[in-house]
Amino acid sequence: MADKKRSVLAPQEYVKGVLSGDRTVLARTITLIESNAAEHIKKARTVLKHLLPFAGKSFRIGITGMPGAGKSTLIEALGCFLVEKGFKVAVLAVDPTSSITRGSILGDKTRMEKLSRRKNAFIRPSPSGGTLGGVTRKSLETIIICESAGFDIIIIETVGVGQNEITVRSMVDFFLLVLIPGAGDELQGIKRGVIEIADALIINKADGYNREKAERVREEYSLALKYLAPATPGWKTRAYLCSALNGEGVAGLWETIGRFRQKTRESGIFYKRRQNQNLDWMFGLIENRLRDDFFSHPGIQRELSLVKEKVLDGSILPTAAAERLLNLFFDSRK
Ligand code: GDP
Repeated sequence: MADKKRSVLAPQEYVKGVLSGDRTVLARTITLIESNAAEHIKKARTVLKHLLPFAGKSFRIGITGMPGAGKSTLIEALGCFLVEKGFKVAVLAVDPTSSITRGSILGDKTRMEKLSRRKNAFIRPSPSGGTLGGVTRKSLETIIICESAGFDIIIIETVGVGQNEITVRSMVDFFLLVLIPGAGDELQGIKRGVIEIADALIINKADGYNREKAERVREEYSLALKYLAPATPGWKTRAYLCSALNGEGVAGLWETIGRFRQKTRESGIFYKRRQNQNLDWMFGLIENRLRDDFFSHPGIQRELSLVKEKVLDGSILPTAAAERLLNLFFDSRK
């Protein structure tokens, strides 16, 4: 496959390349599943079907926090630490907001330079998928592809801006929230709900004159955590200090993740969560497909523009409009 950069690949070439750990083919396979073109979607389905039996063996870590909290610095430190230990690490970003703001908070700047140079690391910025559902599907499928390429630790990064955290939580085994001292909860955009879904809180930038403040913040969060139900049954979420910049706390974080992994595997929560995630994935696929088929239907597109005006000027009720469009859609498929 000398010219695999330009030539069109057959599904089995994608599969073979990914399974053999070929970086170029791996990147191209992800590009294929990110594409919204009908012929690519079909091909991607075939490729995925053949890769699925080889997936599922990684440990998936989700990381969130406001911009500037130090997520990429932490991922770089943790990633390099893990690569040193012999793991293959893939870092994926999930940032559905980028398609709305047209500028990605993740992935645009030169990030994780050291990690990106490591042979056993692979970094991929966020897919631009339009809807959150689209991005979710593409991210999940990217995880599958990376797993089948032999990556055993998958880190999924997202910016803490509301819905993103819930989306990423639903894809990972362990969910980490990165906070910094000196910024109130409102400032960090952290809602109580996000703390509730975290398996660990990292108070980052606990270095220099910030160290004492970080310890106070850690104590405050530790207290708050006492009153919250755990994100993962049988596991106690705690707050830890860390300095991603000088690497302090990174080994401790990995130890915590190791204990979590062992505990949840023993209790069966790990497998149960994966099963439920598969179920969510299935429902997500169904919803996406129905929505895409519906809105790309030429008859619906024509009718929708007419009906929309009528709903706007009040000459037809929204309920009747929806009924009309749905009937048109289902009748056309009989
Ligand atoms: P992200 O937007 O959450 O990915 O944040 P970055 O990793 O890009 O970090 C934002 C800024 O904080 C950068 O200037 C980093 O060098 C700095 N930073 C990250 N981690 C630490 C840390 O542990 N200590 C200190 N002092 N600065 C840090």
